[in-house]
Amino acid sequence: MADRTVTCCIAGGGPAGMMAGFLLARAGVEVLVLEKHADFLRDFRGDTIHPSTLQVMHELGLLDEFLRLPHQKAEQLSGQVGDTVLRIADFRHLPTTCKFIAFMPQWDFLDFLAGHAERLPRFGLMRRAEARELIEEDGRVVGLRASTPDGALDIRADLVIGADGRHSTVRAKAGLVSHQLGAPIDVLWLRLSRHDGDPNETFGRFDTGRLAVLINRGDYWQLGYVIPKGGFDELRQAGLATLQSRLAALVPFLADRVGALDTWDKVNLLTVAVDRLERWHRPGLLCIGDAAHAMSPVGGVGINLAIQDAVATANILAGALREQRLSETDLALVQRRREFPARATQRLQIAIQNRVITRVLGSSGTLSAPLPLRLAAAIPLFRRLPARLIGMGVRPEHVRASAA
Ligand SMILES: Cc1cc2nc3c(=O)[nH]c(=O)nc-3n(C[C@H](O)[C@H](O)[C@H](O)COP(=O)(O)OP(=O)(O)OC[C@H]3O[C@@H](n4cnc5c(N)ncnc54)[C@H](O)[C@@H]3O)c2cc1C
Repeated sequence: MADRTVTCCIAGGGPAGMMAGFLLARAGVEVLVLEKHADFLRDFRGDTIHPSTLQVMHELGLLDEFLRLPHQKAEQLSGQVGDTVLRIADFRHLPTTCKFIAFMPQWDFLDFLAGHAERLPRFGLMRRAEARELIEEDGRVVGLRASTPDGALDIRADLVIGADGRHSTVRAKAGLVSHQLGAPIDVLWLRLSRHDGDPNETFGRFDTGRLAVLINRGDYWQLGYVIPKGGFDELRQAGLATLQSRLAALVPFLADRVGALDTWDKVNLLTVAVDRLERWHRPGLLCIGDAAHAMSPVGGVGINLAIQDAVATANILAGALREQRLSETDLALVQRRREFPARATQRLQIAIQNRVITRVLGSSGTLSAPLPLRLAAAIPLFRRLPARLIGMGVRPEHVRASAA
């Protein structure tokens, strides 16, 4: 006997899971989202809310309220190579309501979504509930077993959605085959205070052998310092002073505060993976977001793809779930709709990883700006293409599943 029965059980309360849960519940489907953590307060999620996601919020009638949350707007993105500042993306021409990226800590975004979702009668969010096992009958997934502070919980569902990120338990337990596409980098994620006189922009800094992205989070900088894959142990052996001096050399205005990194506990290693499932579904089960296609941080587009997957999932599946006529063909339609955007975006990320980032990390002489950056900087029209790819992605989705 199941402890609980719902129409759709979603493992993972990240962007994919929360948006899918919200949209399905809004369309009249009974949903339970399981999130293994107690809150959304984690630092490793990325901070970008893209024009396409803002468009989704607009279509949901939530945009004005959402934009009242503290955020920084970026209408353009720049990179600094050596001493040269290059504009590389210009969002001001996008055919969207918001022609900018909103930088907002992801926990604020997820809290906002959760707040609205929890007002819907058919939505449930269970925190500190970790999906551990799938429940199967005759080759069909019919639910999952979760661990909760009160013990194990069996949840029976017409559909289990794996939205549990790039180390997805659901996809592993389902035996879905994934292809590793290669990620030659890892990222050190750390924060340093912001001072008066610092730049306002979020920007990327490239120099000989080094590369970092700095996200303006108001009173502090969130830094993503890129290292070659597996390079963390070597750096740790070299010592904190080495990291401090590398950061100070790369971003000179931080030289007066890198000393605040006085313990490795303040430096988080984020391992980067890029992979994609061959098949995103099995009878009774669908994976979306990073669980179906783990994205590289390049371009900061993974959240965007996760949200777009969620919108497509609700558009395609809400009716069938509501009317209890879901078949695997419906699940295959979600993969068919979203596989091309994931594949095309990953191909581009891998090209940038291999041709730009690896080149920068391996450089020893004076670094010249990579050709794509130079083209974008020199020709305004060229800045519209990265803006479109980053801001809207391939095949943007629109909310179709209507409110019940
Ligand atoms: C270093 C780094 C930086 C990045 N920066 C950006 C960026 O700036 N912008 C951007 O767009 N993308 C960025 N990305 C990519 C982005 O983080 C992902 O593509 C995006 O978060 C995917 O969303 P998701 O909802 O599919 O998965 P996730 O965001 O990973 O969410 C999965 C959720 O599931 C929960 N969970 C996991 N296992 C279980 C379980 N068994 N049971 C219940 N819950 C579970 C997790 O706690 C988490 O809340 C970055 C990636 C990396 C590695």
